[in-house]
Amino acid sequence: MSTPTTDTTRPSCSVTGLRVVLGRSGPDVVDDIAFDVAEGEILALVGESGSGKTTIATALLAHTRRGARIDAGAVVLDGRELLGASPGEARKRRGSEVAYVPQDPAASLNPVMRIGRQIREVLDVHHAGTPVERDARVREVLAEVALPDDDEFLRRYPHQLSGGQLQRVAIAMAFTLRPRVLVLDEPTTGLDVTTQAHVLATVRELCTRHAVAAVYVTHDLAVVAEFAHRVAVMYAGRIVEIGPREQIFEAPAHPYTRALLAAVPSVTESRVLKGIPGSAPSPGRRPSGCRFHDRCAFAEAACAEREPELTETGDAPARTAPVLARCHRTEHVRSQPLEFSVSAPPASTRPEPVLTVRGLSARYGSRTVLHGIDLEVGRNECVAVVGESGSGKSTLSRAVGGLHEEWSGILSFRGEPLPPGARQRTRELRKAVQYVFQNPYLALNPRMTVGRIVRRPLELFGLAHGADATRRVHELLGQVMLSPAVYDLRPDRLSGGERQRVAIARALACEPELLICDEVTSALDVSVQASIVGLLEELRSSRGLSMLFVTHNLALVRSLATRVAVLSEGRIVEEGPTADVLDRPSAAYTRQLLADTPGRGDGSAELVEEGA
Ligand code: SF4
Repeated sequence: MSTPTTDTTRPSCSVTGLRVVLGRSGPDVVDDIAFDVAEGEILALVGESGSGKTTIATALLAHTRRGARIDAGAVVLDGRELLGASPGEARKRRGSEVAYVPQDPAASLNPVMRIGRQIREVLDVHHAGTPVERDARVREVLAEVALPDDDEFLRRYPHQLSGGQLQRVAIAMAFTLRPRVLVLDEPTTGLDVTTQAHVLATVRELCTRHAVAAVYVTHDLAVVAEFAHRVAVMYAGRIVEIGPREQIFEAPAHPYTRALLAAVPSVTESRVLKGIPGSAPSPGRRPSGCRFHDRCAFAEAACAEREPELTETGDAPARTAPVLARCHRTEHVRSQPLEFSVSAPPASTRPEPVLTVRGLSARYGSRTVLHGIDLEVGRNECVAVVGESGSGKSTLSRAVGGLHEEWSGILSFRGEPLPPGARQRTRELRKAVQYVFQNPYLALNPRMTVGRIVRRPLELFGLAHGADATRRVHELLGQVMLSPAVYDLRPDRLSGGERQRVAIARALACEPELLICDEVTSALDVSVQASIVGLLEELRSSRGLSMLFVTHNLALVRSLATRVAVLSEGRIVEEGPTADVLDRPSAAYTRQLLADTPGRGDGSAELVEEGA
């Protein structure tokens, strides 16, 4: 895997002494932040939720979230300081010098404004060129991000575009004024691997071609391993390690970096994923001394007393950027080999089927989206359904879950026909077949506390009452790595990843026989994902839980699934034991999915240019 070269002598973006606090002089959200990003370079900011990476990303635009304030530091863009600029000046420089690509382009685009008009507005606001030049630039930037530049496309509204096209429009808008610095905030979360590979290839190509420095915020370390030039690892508001990608992934100097890497699934081997015990402390609750000491496997007494400085480790090869780490024991940490435990892939023994799908065809109105699907999920089996967005995998899981009723064919559970709609299913069936939705923002009742949400099915299905139910709720929250403090909170106080864990806890409260998971881990940090995968695997092997696991994460499939069904355009193109499908794919479509998956280790997913 080659690292593209960058001109590290000319930083386009230089951050020094950045400190963001809550309120006027409350606890710090981030502190002592310093880094440079060179022309054409991509710096990834990684770390768990709450580590402060998004706070840094927004500070690069002289912004903070409500209730926070930039207390100290400088952000120098192309030689000029931004944080001291007047509000009007800062507004002008946003877009023209530093641009932002959001996580959810659909939420940031105006739904009632045509695509061409929205891009043109960026040029109008900044009075960039003549009207004729602005029209030409709109078409030019659409072509640069590999979108059509014809009138028909310019007239489309956001809802007429796919997720990948929307993200390309967001990238086009960010590049419209040819900025020097680009801030990308989880830009491919929710996209399938093929679309993700193409979107990131476009970003990288544009950054190189136009010498743009990029800061890429993400929790997806597999993508970072192939996309970024350098990596900054954040923990509890501090950079704890920063250096070239190869050094960070091959010889991490900080225990937190090592722990994060141990939680990342691999598409090439079935790793035992290890979550990090405990949770990252929030501002105001951070421990004295090293902020990681209560979760660190290398901690010694001195670690709790003295906070380490970010210092050079001296291990980077000559002519590459140095590696800096914030740890008292870097040398000892580095001397320990970085090893991953590999388990035998979950066995596929073709046990008696719990779920049988025969000749299932599903439609939306006159459009057929599933064509004659045959599939079985045995007791104690986890069957993964993979494929691109639009391949029909969510429709399949929704039909099984009783949430999509326009289908023909046979669905049976424990040998009995499964009624199409959840409302027609018996209470016992509704308890036994549970569904966890992809979008945690729509899955929880906003008026109920977390405690009530998880407790409800326990009481509804007569599984626990009173103090027993309370104890069981706390047990379930602990199993999905949520703190007991969330018991009395409503969902709007939780992050997306925390809401997803509440939804998983609620489903597990029902003690289901079949759990349908629709992209349930895409919003989770790798360490939480590792813990959830460990929990599901434990329930599968010890309690006979069966799972239909819809995902686009093939690395996760390797660690969790016993069998895989590959779906393309509503048809299963390949199905079999996980190791067979991932190691010896017979369908060209599966081979392409694997090639687009980050972390293959053979360079095949090196973010290829889009062919069409
Ligand atoms: Fe762990 Fe101590 Fe290093 Fe902190 S300073 S990361 S507690 S070894």
